[in-house]
Amino acid sequence: MNLAKLVRPNILQLNPYSCARDEFKGEASVYLDANENPMNAPYNRYPDPMQWALKEKISQMKSVRSEQIMLGNGSDEPIDLVVRIFCEPQVDNIVAIDPSYGMYQVCADVNNVEYRKVLLNADYSLDAQRVLDAVDANTKIIFLCSPNNPTGNLLNRSEMLKIVNGFGGIVVIDEAYVDFSSEESWLADLDKYSNIVVLQTFSKAWGLASVRCGMAFASEEIISYFNKVKYPYNINILTQNFVSENLDLEVRKNDWVEMLLVQRTQLSNELQTLPFVEKIFPTDANFLLVKVPDANAVYQYLVDLGIIVRNRNTVSLCLGCLRITVGTAEENKTLLDALKKIG
Ligand SMILES: *Cc1c(COP(=O)(O)O)cnc(C)c1O
Repeated sequence: MNLAKLVRPNILQLNPYSCARDEFKGEASVYLDANENPMNAPYNRYPDPMQWALKEKISQMKSVRSEQIMLGNGSDEPIDLVVRIFCEPQVDNIVAIDPSYGMYQVCADVNNVEYRKVLLNADYSLDAQRVLDAVDANTKIIFLCSPNNPTGNLLNRSEMLKIVNGFGGIVVIDEAYVDFSSEESWLADLDKYSNIVVLQTFSKAWGLASVRCGMAFASEEIISYFNKVKYPYNINILTQNFVSENLDLEVRKNDWVEMLLVQRTQLSNELQTLPFVEKIFPTDANFLLVKVPDANAVYQYLVDLGIIVRNRNTVSLCLGCLRITVGTAEENKTLLDALKKIG
C-alpha cells in the first residue's frame, strides 16, 4: 500500500508545529525555553507532547511498539483526525456500516466529506461484498465497529478480513467494547495489515469515561501522520498520570468485566421472561439491544421513573429497540422491577 498516495496532499506537505518540548527532549536543570512560569511545579511545565511514558506502559500491556500508538481526547479525537488526514473535503468519501457509532458520520459531516452508509444484514451481520461494492476511486476510509454499537454483536472476522484485504484504503476497526468480547483483538495482526487503524478506549471497561483518553493503534507510518496533525499537547498531564496509575489496576478492570458479564447474562435472562420483550439480540459488549412493540412508550415510562436507557427506535434496522447498558446488580434490579410493572 502506498500510504503517501492516500494522505491529503496538504497533510503530506504540512510543516507541523514544533513546540519547545519537541526541540529539546532531554533532562536539564534549568528550563527557560517555553515561557512557562517557574512557580507551581509540576503543573507549570508543558506535558510530554508524545506521552512516551504512558505509551511505554500501554505498549507492554498490548504487545505493540510505542511508535504504533496515538493517544487522543477519547477515541473521538483519532476518529476526527483520520478523516482530516485522508479525506479531501467534497472530493473523497467514507464508507461505513449502518447502523453504527454516530461519531463517524458527525466527523465526516464536520469535515464536509461524503459518508456512505451500507446496511448490515437484518441480523446485524456484515456482508463484506456489499461494503466493497460501495467503494469507488475516492473512498479513503471504511469504518467497521466490532463489537458494534448499538447492535452489540461482533462482526464476522473473515468478512472483515475480506474488506481489509480487498480495499486499498484505510480500514478503521473500532474495538471500544473489545474487553467484553469473546474474540481476540485485531491488535495481534497489526504488523500483518498496514492499512488498519484499531481504536480502543479507557471509557468503557476501564471505567474512565470522564478522563477522556482513547487509543489508536496503527503502523508507525500512519501514526506519524496522526502526530503531525494532532494538537501538540493533546493529553494533559493529569490524564497522562492518572491513566498511567490506572494501568497498574488491570486486575480490578478484569474483575469489573467479569462482574458485568455475569450481570449481562442475568439481565438478559430476566428480560427474556417479560411478555412484551420480543427479542434480545446477541451481544459481545456491555449493553443489550432489546426489541419491544413500542420503544418510545417504554423509554418514556422509564424516564418518568428516573431510569434512563437509550432509545434507538429511529436508528436503521433498530425499529422498536432500546439499548440498555449493563449496570450494577442493584441498578439492573431497579430497571427490571420497573419493567415488570408494565401490564
Ligand atoms: C463509547 C464508544 C467509543 C468511546 O469513545 P471515547 O471518545 O473514547 O469515550 C468509541 N467507539 C464506540 C463505538 C463507542 O461506543
